[in-house]
Amino acid sequence: MRLILLGAPGAGKGTQAKALAKELSLPHISTGDILRKNVADSTELGKKAKNYMNKGELVPDAIVIGMLLDRLAEADTDKGFILDGFPRNLNQAKALDTMLTERNKQIDLVINLEVSEPVVITRLSGRLICSKCQAIYHKKNNPPQNDMVCDKCGGALYQRDDDKEETVRKRLEVYREEAQPLLDFYNDRGILLNVSADEEAGVVLDEIIRMLTSYNDSRKN
Ligand code: AMP
Repeated sequence: MRLILLGAPGAGKGTQAKALAKELSLPHISTGDILRKNVADSTELGKKAKNYMNKGELVPDAIVIGMLLDRLAEADTDKGFILDGFPRNLNQAKALDTMLTERNKQIDLVINLEVSEPVVITRLSGRLICSKCQAIYHKKNNPPQNDMVCDKCGGALYQRDDDKEETVRKRLEVYREEAQPLLDFYNDRGILLNVSADEEAGVVLDEIIRMLTSYNDSRKN
């Protein structure tokens, strides 16, 4: 199954994508994670991407599309994948489409996580991420047992540079500009599922799984 998770920053794409990847045994592909790894490793790609990311702007398509298509050429994606953070605009969606069509494949479903702005600000301003395994915590709602240490792997937790409130507002603005054409693109194909994502992660995950199950059942009939 080939899935895309859409939604504003802080909608929970990363959290849900990780949980779904485990549930469905599919690779979770996050362009944000790949970019952050390149920045941390100071690769050429990372050096080009860093300034855009720190300002909350999109990294140019010329960089991101090539990077994503390279990742999708890896063998573990043959059985399917879960995309998180890509596509971010119509141009990226069309590039993905062309690449999949060339391989006689298509996106099966696009899950759009709908979230309100106050929830986004609260989630992102308290978000902590493990530098080793990328597990996600929240200072108040889901704190680690030991301060700034990952419960799962012992890695150091950090706050993303772009989770500062003013950068979050910029990221939301960028999202709002690009999102609608993307939603229309997938809605016109009849593969868009809207899920309310203001609730806590477990509730949202249950709803997504319920929708995926009824989608699979309808395909069998
Ligand atoms: P994310 O982890 O998905 O919130 O992404 C963090 C940042 O990485 C974004 O604010 C962008 O600067 C950059 N980024 C991630 N995915 C993309 C993409 N598909 N296109 C352009 N920039 C991206």
